[in-house]
Amino acid sequence: MNDAPLYPGATLGVLGGGQLGAMFAAAALRLGYRVAVWDPDPDAPAHRLASVSFPTAFADSATAHAFSQLVNAVTLEWENVPAALCEQLAGIHPVRPSAAILRVIQDRIEQKQFLQAQGFPVPSFRMVQRPHQLASAVAELGGAVICKTATSGYDGKGQWTIRHSSEVAGVEQALASMVPRGARWIVEAMVDFARELSVLVVRGQDGDQRVYPVVENRHEGGILRLSVVPARISAVVAEQASDLAMRAVRALDGIGVFCVELFHTQSGTLLINEIAPRPHNSGHYTLDACSVSQFEQQVRALCGLPLGEVRLLSPAAMVNVIGQDLEAVTSREGCFDLLATPGAVLHLYGKRVARPGRKMGHVTFLADESEQAATRASRFEKILRV
Ligand code: AMP
Repeated sequence: MNDAPLYPGATLGVLGGGQLGAMFAAAALRLGYRVAVWDPDPDAPAHRLASVSFPTAFADSATAHAFSQLVNAVTLEWENVPAALCEQLAGIHPVRPSAAILRVIQDRIEQKQFLQAQGFPVPSFRMVQRPHQLASAVAELGGAVICKTATSGYDGKGQWTIRHSSEVAGVEQALASMVPRGARWIVEAMVDFARELSVLVVRGQDGDQRVYPVVENRHEGGILRLSVVPARISAVVAEQASDLAMRAVRALDGIGVFCVELFHTQSGTLLINEIAPRPHNSGHYTLDACSVSQFEQQVRALCGLPLGEVRLLSPAAMVNVIGQDLEAVTSREGCFDLLATPGAVLHLYGKRVARPGRKMGHVTFLADESEQAATRASRFEKILRV
C-alpha cells in the first residue's frame, strides 16, 4: 500500500454520507479533490456534493470493488460503518482512522476498558452480558446509573437512566427484547458533572498533533444542543483537558480528527466520556470561527499533508437545529430574524424529513466574547422553544 501524500486531483472516498460526510466533501472539493460518497441512503446529504455516488448497502461487494478502484484513500463520517469493510479497503488504500481503532471505539465496553487499562480516568462502569446481570451491576455501582447498549447507540438512543432500584425491572425487560439481536450493555455511574467539555485533536501520520480550544457543551435528551468556545473554564482546567485528550489520541495511535468528550465533575476532576474518531458536532464552529476547519483537517490528515492551524478567530456558540426546530428557521419571520442577527451563520443540511431528534442544521453565533456568543445562542434557543 502506498502511503505517499495525496495531492489535489486525487479521489477521496468517504463511508457515510450524512452532514459530517457532506462537510468533509465540501472541504475536499474546495481543496481540489474529487470525492466518492458511499451511503446506502440515496437521500443522504453528502450525495449532493459527491463527484461519484454509491447509494448501495455497505455489504454490496460490487460497490466495494468499484469504490476501491476509484478512490485513492478512504475516511469515514461516523464510527459505526462496518469495520470489516474498512479492513478490506485498507488492504488496497490508506483508511483513516484505521479499522483497528474502529473496533475499539465501536463498542462502548471495549472503549472504556481500553481507556481504563491505559490509565485514563473514566466513570465507574460494569459490563452487562445478560439482562439478569443488570440488577447486580446497578447495586454494585450504587446511586443513579446510565445503561447504554454497547454498540450502535448514538444521540441518546439505546440509553436508559435508572435513579431508583424500582426502575431496574422495567429496563431489564427492555434489554431482554434486544437479546435476539446479540446486544450487550454497559452500565455507568451517573456522573454529577458541573459541565461537559470536548476537545478536538488532529493527529498526522508523523505523530504531529494539534488541539483546538476546549469547547463547553450542553446536551438535551442525549443530543447535543449547545456548544460554546472557548469554554468558560480556568486556564488550568483547559490545559488539563487538552493534555488528557492529546494523550488519549496518542494512546489510540490515531491518525485524523478525534473528538474527546469529557465530564468536568463538581469536584473538579475530568473523566473521559467517549472518543469519536472523526469530526464532531461540537466542532462545527470551526467552519466559521477558525482558519482551518475540522473537516479540512480530516482531508489534510487523510492525504498526509501538513496539518492546519487551529487558531480561533472568534469566540463562538453553536446551536443545533433539531427535528421540528427547522420550521423556526425556514419561515419568513424566523429566517429573516436569524439572518439579520449579527454574527449568525446558518447551516442547513438539506434533509427532507424533519423527524424528532434528527439533526437538520446548526447555527453558529460569532461574538467578541464567549459570554456574548452564548447570549445570542440562548436568545435563538428561546425562539426554537416557542
Ligand atoms: P453518550 O452517547 O455516551 O455520549 O451520552 C450522551 C449524553 O448523555 C452525554 O453527553 C451526557 O450528557 C449524558 N451521559 C452519558 N453518560 C453519562 C454518565 N455516565 N453520567 C452522566 N451523564 C451521562
